[in-house]
Amino acid sequence: MADGIRPFWRNWIGGAWVEGGDRTTIPVTDPATGEVIAEVARGTPADIDRAVRAARACFDSRILRDVRPHRRGDLMLKVAEELGKAADEIAVVECRDNGKTLANGRNEVTLTQRYLTYYAGLADKLEGRQIPLGDGYVDYTVHDPFGVSAQIVPWNGPLPVGARSIACALVTGNTVVLKSPEDSPLSLFLLAEACERAGVPPGAVNIVCGYGAEAGAALAAHPDIDHIVFTGSLETGKSVLRAAAERVIPCVMELGGKSGAIIHADADLDRTAASAVRGIFTHAGQICSAGSRLIVHRSVHDDLVARIVKLASVRTVGSGIDGCDMGPLISARQLARVEALCASGIAEGATPVLGGARVPGLAGHFMAPTIFTGVRPDMRIAQEEFFGPVLVVLPFDTPEEAVAIANGTPYGLAAGVYTRDLKLAHWTADRLVAGQVYVNEWWAGGVETPFGGMKRSGYGREKGQEALLGYVQTKNVGIRL
Ligand code: NAD
Repeated sequence: MADGIRPFWRNWIGGAWVEGGDRTTIPVTDPATGEVIAEVARGTPADIDRAVRAARACFDSRILRDVRPHRRGDLMLKVAEELGKAADEIAVVECRDNGKTLANGRNEVTLTQRYLTYYAGLADKLEGRQIPLGDGYVDYTVHDPFGVSAQIVPWNGPLPVGARSIACALVTGNTVVLKSPEDSPLSLFLLAEACERAGVPPGAVNIVCGYGAEAGAALAAHPDIDHIVFTGSLETGKSVLRAAAERVIPCVMELGGKSGAIIHADADLDRTAASAVRGIFTHAGQICSAGSRLIVHRSVHDDLVARIVKLASVRTVGSGIDGCDMGPLISARQLARVEALCASGIAEGATPVLGGARVPGLAGHFMAPTIFTGVRPDMRIAQEEFFGPVLVVLPFDTPEEAVAIANGTPYGLAAGVYTRDLKLAHWTADRLVAGQVYVNEWWAGGVETPFGGMKRSGYGREKGQEALLGYVQTKNVGIRL
C-alpha cells in the first residue's frame, strides 16, 4: 500500500460498492514513479447498464424531483461537508494517481467544495417565466430535468470536473452515471464515499471506472440515457457526439484548447511573465485552458521571453509528494507524444530556448518546462494541443495581426490580453473567439463564471449560473382558464 492508499477500489452503483462485472481490474499507476499503487474494479458494459438502470429507477421514483428544491441544495452542502473530512486522503491520492503537487491536491478539495456549495445555493433559484397571453389564459414555463445524465470525465481534474457536473445534475433533479477516468480514478471514489455518507439516495449518483473505448463508449451509446456531459479530447468528443446523434441526446461538450494570450507593448512585463508561467506550467500544462501560446508585440518580445525563461528555469521538477513545483505527465505515451511534437517544432525551425525534451535520469514521465521562440502560426507546435508544459511564443506587429494569430487555430476555449490600456483590452477581447477571455491575469474568473468552448473546443457551459441551463429542458404550460 503506497502512502496509505487503499490497494483495491470498487465501483459505486445503485448505492452499493460492487466488483467489476467480469472480476478483472485496472491497475492505477503513479506517473512520478511508474509504480502500480492500486487496482480498481474494471467497469464493463454490463456494469454501465446496471448503473443506468439504477439511475433510471431513482429518477422515475421522483425522490429528488418531488422535494422542495432547497432540500436538493441541502444534500449538496452535506456532500461538501463529508468531502472535507477526506481532504488529506484526497490530496495524497491526487499526487499519486494524477501527478499533482500536494498544494494542488489540497486546492482541488477546496475547489470541489466551492462547486458543491455554489450549486447548493442555486437549487431553489432556477425560475421559469410567466408569459402573457391575454384574457382567459395563464402560461408559464418550468425547467424539467432531462432524466439520466451520462457524464464522461478526463483524467486531469476528475474531482472538480466530476463534482461540478454531478452538482448541476442533482440540484436540477436529474440522476447521474459518471464514467471516471481509468488513469486517475481514485478521487472520484472518495467523492462517491462522501455522497454515501451524506445520504444521497441510492442510484442518484453512480460512479463507474472503466476503459474509454469499452465503458465510456457503452455509456455514450446506452439506449436509456437522456443527456451527456463529455469533458475530454476533441477526437473522443466526436465519437461521443456520433453516438448521441443516433438517439438525438443533448450534449455539453468540453473539449481541448490551444489558448493564446496577446501581450501588447504597454503590458506590465513582470506581472505578465509571472502570469504566463503559472498559465502554462501549473499541473505541467495538463489543463484544458492552459495558456499555451504567447503572442507578443515585437518591441517587448525578447525582454518578456528573458523574464519568463528566468522564472521557469528555477522551477523544480519531480514528484508532487516531495514538494516539487511541477509534477510528471500522466503516462509514458503522453510524454512520448509531447516530445515528438517538440521534435517536429525543431524540425520546422523553431528554437527551444528552454527544455525541449524529457528530464533525464528520473523514473517517472517528466517533461522539462519548455519554451519555443521563432514559431510561425502554421507550425504544428502552434496549432496542436500539447497537453504538456510547452509554451510557444509568436511575435506580432499590429493588433489586427495579433488577433488573427490568436484566432488562427481550430480551438476557441480561452484567450488572454495583457495591456494597461482599457480601450485596447476591450477592443481585443471583443475580437477574440474564445469562451473566456482573461485580461491581465490568466484564469481570471472562478466557480461563478461560465466556462466552455467556442469552435472545436465544444459547446455548452459549465460553472456559473449558466451551467444549470445545460441540465434542464424548458416546458411551457399553457392554460385556457
Ligand atoms: P480523452 O478524450 O482521452 O478521455 C476523456 C474521457 O473519455 C476518459 O474518461 C476516457 O476514458 C473516455 N473515453 C475515451 N475513449 C472513449 C470513447 N470511445 N467513448 C467514450 N468515452 C471515451 O481525454 P483525456 O486525455 O482524459 O483528457 C485530456 C483532454 O481533455 C484534453 O484535450 C483537454 O483539453 C480536455 N479537457 C477539457 C476540459 C474542458 O473543460 N474543456 C477539461 C479538462 C480536459
